[in-house]
Amino acid sequence: MGKTKKVGISGRFGARYGSKLRKQWRDITSKQKGITKCPKCNTKLPNMREFVGVWHCKKCGATWTGGSWESATARGKESHRIAIRMAREASEAEQNPASTIKK
Ligand SMILES: [Zn+2]
Repeated sequence: MGKTKKVGISGRFGARYGSKLRKQWRDITSKQKGITKCPKCNTKLPNMREFVGVWHCKKCGATWTGGSWESATARGKESHRIAIRMAREASEAEQNPASTIKK
């Protein structure tokens, strides 16, 4: 094997398929099969993708939805933040119903 410093894992294709296609394939595949951080236990493991959009942590057994090729997308993180905030507000209102009436 020669050097694959620049092309990384797409080096296996040699000179075939064109540089743009190889680059795209490398970017997607390295995200898909590369090290992924579990949002629940923060363990970093390779190959956490179950199938398209569904990710699974082998250590804590957590399953979560993410991007098709990435464990989390920018849009997904946004919705996650919103969901956490809504859940927090809901539980605060439950614990202290008077605070919602004051508003
Ligand atoms: Zn986990």
